[in-house]
Amino acid sequence: MTPGATPVNAADDFLPLIVTSPSGAGKTTLVRRLLARYEDLVVSVSVTTRAPRPGEVDGRDYHFVSHDTFRAMIDRGAFAEWAEVHGNCYGTSLEKMVEARAHRRGMVFVIDVQGARMLKARVPDAVGVFILPPSFAELEARLRNRGTDSEETIARRMKNARGELAHYGLFDYVVVNDQLDAASEELNAIVLAERAKRWRRAQAVERVIHDGSAR
Ligand code: ADP
Ligand code: 5GP
Repeated sequence: MTPGATPVNAADDFLPLIVTSPSGAGKTTLVRRLLARYEDLVVSVSVTTRAPRPGEVDGRDYHFVSHDTFRAMIDRGAFAEWAEVHGNCYGTSLEKMVEARAHRRGMVFVIDVQGARMLKARVPDAVGVFILPPSFAELEARLRNRGTDSEETIARRMKNARGELAHYGLFDYVVVNDQLDAASEELNAIVLAERAKRWRRAQAVERVIHDGSAR
């Protein structure tokens, strides 16, 4: 993490969207659908020391790096936030976030609760969504069905899940991922509603007032 970091300036209608859940609750699945729906949103590809899972692609799913590289990145202030999660390190690139603000209409951060707290402190206009599994039994079943984690890893992720749920108060929205289509619709609707917030539209209103048109 980066204590005492300065906030990144809020821009016009840019939407920084934090999506957090216990591992296995479905945030990757929901964010994939969200990105298919909103082509002007881009996902923040995190840097991690975790080993790639089968099928994961370097640069698309994560930037996979060694512990030494990760440490060097911390030292040069490359992360907007970073955290140790389930025994591995994960971090959000500060440079990519600043770049997205200049060129895109939103960025999605799929990060853990520690990262969410850090990013909310640093990016005041960030919107936080917590994805809730319908039950612990279903969460464990999803982790097992995913078929990508060892029994030891699943046990560790299940143990951490309770602690993660306790932090739901950090977030602006909670989406219960029971039926995938319904949960996906809710997440999409959150983006739609957030984009219509008065203060995100303030510059458009001012343009109509002063120039006669928002375009
Ligand atoms: P996370 O990114 O939170 O760790 P994933 O998106 O990888 O979770 O989802 C974990 C597993 O659960 C995947 O196999 C995914 O296909 C499945 N899954 C996600 N959402 C649902 C749902 N609503 N119902 C049933 N299975 C789901
Ligand atoms: P996984 O190993 O299952 O891909 O991710 C484990 C956890 O690390 C998830 O809760 C995920 O959201 C979180 N995570 C992924 N990238 C980042 C990041 O850049 N920062 C933080 N703080 N957490 C991350």
